[in-house]
Amino acid sequence: MAFDGCKPENRASILFHHAVVAKVCAIHTHSYSIAGIELEVQFKSVKYLRLRITPSGTVQVSAPWKTSWAEIDNFVQQHQGWIKAKQAELAARPAPAVAEFTDGETHYLWGRAYALATHAKPDVMTDESAGRLWLPDVDRTQRSQALQRFFHQQMQSRLVLMLEHWCPKMGVSINKCSIKSMKTRWGSCNIKQRRINLSLELAQKPPACLEMVLVHELVHLFERGHNPRFYRLMDYFLPDWRVAEMQLKHSPGVCFKTGLFRPGNFEEP
Ligand SMILES: [Zn+2]
Repeated sequence: MAFDGCKPENRASILFHHAVVAKVCAIHTHSYSIAGIELEVQFKSVKYLRLRITPSGTVQVSAPWKTSWAEIDNFVQQHQGWIKAKQAELAARPAPAVAEFTDGETHYLWGRAYALATHAKPDVMTDESAGRLWLPDVDRTQRSQALQRFFHQQMQSRLVLMLEHWCPKMGVSINKCSIKSMKTRWGSCNIKQRRINLSLELAQKPPACLEMVLVHELVHLFERGHNPRFYRLMDYFLPDWRVAEMQLKHSPGVCFKTGLFRPGNFEEP
């Protein structure tokens, strides 16, 4: 995405009396400190200034391209009561639970909750009527790996069908679609190599979420950035994509990279 002519070093000087420290930490994200609040500012195609606190407590501001740093400063100062209250609320929350992949623990497959149980067999299987997911009785790492292999197979079989449907429908072709555990993203697209990566964790969410992320990544083959054209294409191909995005945000699951249970959240560059 273009840097769009913002010059943080000049604009920061306007706010020098607020002791603002600016540095560019990515192509279009700036790290700031205003009134003792650390925040990340992103300039993007939005109509209004927006404030968001991620589950990890990071304060993010989305700003329309032409916003001045003084406006951002004002905006953050106006909302500092809310930000501090929200941060205190987050800090008071218990630390996320670590998944043990053991008997009685709840895990999710395609949005449905299953009670884990271990058995003497080497296979992972589900008992749909009892809502049970059986794992081999091995150590924690191996149980996690067995579940990941099972999720991988589950995703692979759905993806084959989804790709057969979506590639001709959208008139695109890709060279490779890989599934792997990802910590901060649900998917990525290498436009030049026409390769897509999808998060293994999507197997835990309702199937519409996998479809939405797949279509999202395929739309990047037409449009690199998350701009109005991108969202017009999303609306055209998958009119209900926002419903799936909400499901993704609110359905729980485990991150295999960290081993932590977490609520869904959609972080996409
Ligand atoms: Zn994207």
